[in-house]
Amino acid sequence: MIVFTEIKDVREHLRAERLAAAKEGRELKVGFVPTMGYLHEGHASLLRSARMDNDLVVLSIFVNPIQFGPHEDFERYPRDSDKDMALAKREGVDIVFLPSVNEMYPQPTKTKVQVAELTDHLCGAARPGHFDGVTTVVSKLLNIVAPDRAYFGQKDAQQVAVVAQMVKDLNMDVEIVPCPIVREEDGLALSSRNVYLSPEERQSALVISRSLRQAEQVAREQEEATAEDIVAELVRTIESEPAAKIDYAEIRRFPSLESIPGSMRVKDVEGKLLIAAAVMIGTTRLIDNVILTTEGVK
Ligand code: AMP
Repeated sequence: MIVFTEIKDVREHLRAERLAAAKEGRELKVGFVPTMGYLHEGHASLLRSARMDNDLVVLSIFVNPIQFGPHEDFERYPRDSDKDMALAKREGVDIVFLPSVNEMYPQPTKTKVQVAELTDHLCGAARPGHFDGVTTVVSKLLNIVAPDRAYFGQKDAQQVAVVAQMVKDLNMDVEIVPCPIVREEDGLALSSRNVYLSPEERQSALVISRSLRQAEQVAREQEEATAEDIVAELVRTIESEPAAKIDYAEIRRFPSLESIPGSMRVKDVEGKLLIAAAVMIGTTRLIDNVILTTEGVK
């Protein structure tokens, strides 16, 4: 495993690898997993998929300042390089790209990549500017690594929709591969931010996955359940936990993120549905979701 901190070194190395493969008559497939580090089994599952599908696996670790709001947790976002390197090695990563903020943003940047509409809802509404930061840094990283495939977790379902739209609109030559959410045994979705939770908060946070499971069950089992009923079920369960404060709890079409009329029966909706929640547990904001396919609901 090789660790690079400079853009030119990653580029040079990948160019040489591609050239060497071409000389042997092989095409080198590169899989890329962008992360903010403090790696856990959710990240590991992305790396495993990338390892299975590709000849070379590139992992980036970069806590991207421009996707954090002024009062968010950029400064205190957890970082543990040694642990990250051990996990990356264990998962057979070939290249780790670990740039500094100055390497990625050497001067105030004048260009940003912005996806319209899809970013108006859910986390986009709750965190103004967040997705501009995400799409800008993901564009830069895709330009640097030029992978064949890039892996993103459904844990951030809106991010998957936004990045896939960007790649399509800008004709970026990369396949976006969505990967399922990895959870603890008790249902809590893995997140680097779970480290902020006290043991009591960790227990309270279970309400998020529980509420989504229950909402999913209502959608599957109750023929007449409307979009409004699903949201009501979600809200009722989350509000039963005193330590939880809802940021949003919604049902939308996926990946368009269009709203569904409240009175519409869920089983009448064509295509995929996203049930998503963002919840404050103390001072920690956690997100989670489930995606239903029409076949699953009917
Ligand atoms: P982050 O380091 O939080 O920016 O996440 C990097 C990538 O890992 C993103 O594509 C996330 O969606 C994905 N990811 C984070 N947590 C999970 C999880 N519990 N299951 C699957 N993917 C995840």
